[in-house]
Amino acid sequence: MTKQKLVAGDAKSGVDTSVVVENGLFTAEVKKPPVVPVGYATVSKKKLLQNLEINGGTRVNAWVESMRASSPTSNRISNQDQTTWMDRHRSALQVFDEITDASNGKQIVMFLDYDGTLSPIVDDPDRAFMSDAMRATVRKLARRFPTAIVSGRCRDKVYKFVKLAELYYAGSHGMDIRGPIKHKKSPPSVLCQPASEYLPMIDEVYGLLMEKTKSTAGAKVENNKFCLSVHFRCVDETKWSELAGQVRSVLKNYPKLRFTQGRKVLEIRPAIKWDKGKALEFLLESLGYANCTDVFPIYIGDDRTDEDAFKVLRETGQGFGILVSKDPRDTNASYSLQEPSEVMVFLQRLVEWKERALIDYEREILKKQKVWKDQNYNGNCLFWNGFQPSS
Ligand SMILES: [Mg+2]
Repeated sequence: MTKQKLVAGDAKSGVDTSVVVENGLFTAEVKKPPVVPVGYATVSKKKLLQNLEINGGTRVNAWVESMRASSPTSNRISNQDQTTWMDRHRSALQVFDEITDASNGKQIVMFLDYDGTLSPIVDDPDRAFMSDAMRATVRKLARRFPTAIVSGRCRDKVYKFVKLAELYYAGSHGMDIRGPIKHKKSPPSVLCQPASEYLPMIDEVYGLLMEKTKSTAGAKVENNKFCLSVHFRCVDETKWSELAGQVRSVLKNYPKLRFTQGRKVLEIRPAIKWDKGKALEFLLESLGYANCTDVFPIYIGDDRTDEDAFKVLRETGQGFGILVSKDPRDTNASYSLQEPSEVMVFLQRLVEWKERALIDYEREILKKQKVWKDQNYNGNCLFWNGFQPSS
């Protein structure tokens, strides 16, 4: 078993719910980069997440092509390309021990995207349910590590999917962050909503897009409160340009909005400097890990928007990102997992590793104090000082 130094205060819960948020917390500064993870990606900047602005531009065809290219069914990947990519972004399951070794002595903080990471990608975004097994795994995970869900979805909607009050939630691509619910009757503590002033505009554009796109079969516009999603998944690929043109015709009148292309989806959001990477930084600060060298964030996601968070981890040298993808993609993530089922196995192993470490730690402490532990028939713990009871 891998030896590790435990982080103080993590033995019981790992989650600090006594968060105090101040305005000054928005500017993260991490001074000492920790260990650079093995398998770190070297990605040319121009190939990184591209913000495909269309306001005043004519890039509709460009992002439609980009969307096709990112569609797994459209990819033409040679075995050699696949092998080369896997060499650079090894499976997080295969290098699990390396990952836990790299976190030695640091507080792991978990960040999880939802769609395509905890739940399968489905045609109807309203039916992207996570399995009970995945929910149970995330619940166990949150008992051991501070855990946040970071999604492009409306925060309330993603909460209805996940149904775990003990987590942090960052909805609308991180523009709507709240902490865990301590008591059932108490309202959730809203930590950050940097785009509040855009709410009327988002609602207005939502109405216009609903009207404009209703002639395109399969098009779906989703209101995610601080941002919008136009889903292409159920639209015939020959109609993608048509739908893109409809979106553009609405967006050209809203220069304060920008949009990015994801997996068969267009994400429309306020043109502010806030993304999943900023949300990650904000949450780390909110948890008390600003300027902290003994924190080890792990971010798992499958979407282009998750690259903002991967990039933060790469640039700060903190923790690492794991891209969920079966196919090679330019990414700032260090490792890969193929699909949500592998994500669940990785999370389960992480929980088991931590629990074993806690048991080892407890044994070590008890040994030092010359106190032995046994259990009585009720399962309650009894302690004897100075001698070891017979079993
Ligand atoms: Mg996703």
